[in-house]
Amino acid sequence: MIVILGYDGLEYNYVVEFKCKELMQESFGKTDISMFTEPRTVVIWSSFLTGRNTEKLALKDLWNFRVKPEETFFSKFKKWYAIDVPGFTHISEIHAKEREVMKKVFEGEASVEEYDKLIFENHKKVKEMFFEALEKDYDILMSYFSLADSIGHVSFGLKIKMKLIYRELEKIAKKTKEVAKKVFIISDHGMKAVGRFGDHSNYGFWSFSENVDLGTPKVIELRKFIESLA
Ligand SMILES: [Zn+2]
Repeated sequence: MIVILGYDGLEYNYVVEFKCKELMQESFGKTDISMFTEPRTVVIWSSFLTGRNTEKLALKDLWNFRVKPEETFFSKFKKWYAIDVPGFTHISEIHAKEREVMKKVFEGEASVEEYDKLIFENHKKVKEMFFEALEKDYDILMSYFSLADSIGHVSFGLKIKMKLIYRELEKIAKKTKEVAKKVFIISDHGMKAVGRFGDHSNYGFWSFSENVDLGTPKVIELRKFIESLA
């Protein structure tokens, strides 16, 4: 089974600084997302899946935008499953609630603790769905985890806290590698600190469980690579 771990907002520089071996795998690098006017989550994930720039279409109604399976690399595989991928199979309630509480944190109407609690509850739910799917016999399985981005927006400048988040993502990757033949890790964009908060950086991250020379690929060109694994 091929597994794609979609880690939103995973920052290249923190992966290296925290020496996250499970995230770096055998080969890793940054992705080029300079074809987009801004590093927007839904736009980048749906462009990764389809291999084309969805920005113009997606911007009409960002969190209601969804590409169809036949437009994505999943159409090249027989048995596939994609959990909570933005712009494709995202679970709307989860993301709407997270955005709502995040807004409240920035407006001083909710505490960071309340927000973190919600994020971890949602993370646990998605993780359970993923581990359950990992036991099944898919040709390709993709799961999306918003953790690094969601926590990063309010705490990216707090390195000790972010290190714990990256360790949690490493644990998921390690468990995945015990089951899957090939593991591709991808983030839509990284993050940069703005005081204690965080904002999207203008490159993403990729890594693979085998030695490959992808350089700094354009995120819309990775579809070809994923299809070559079929
Ligand atoms: Zn994102």
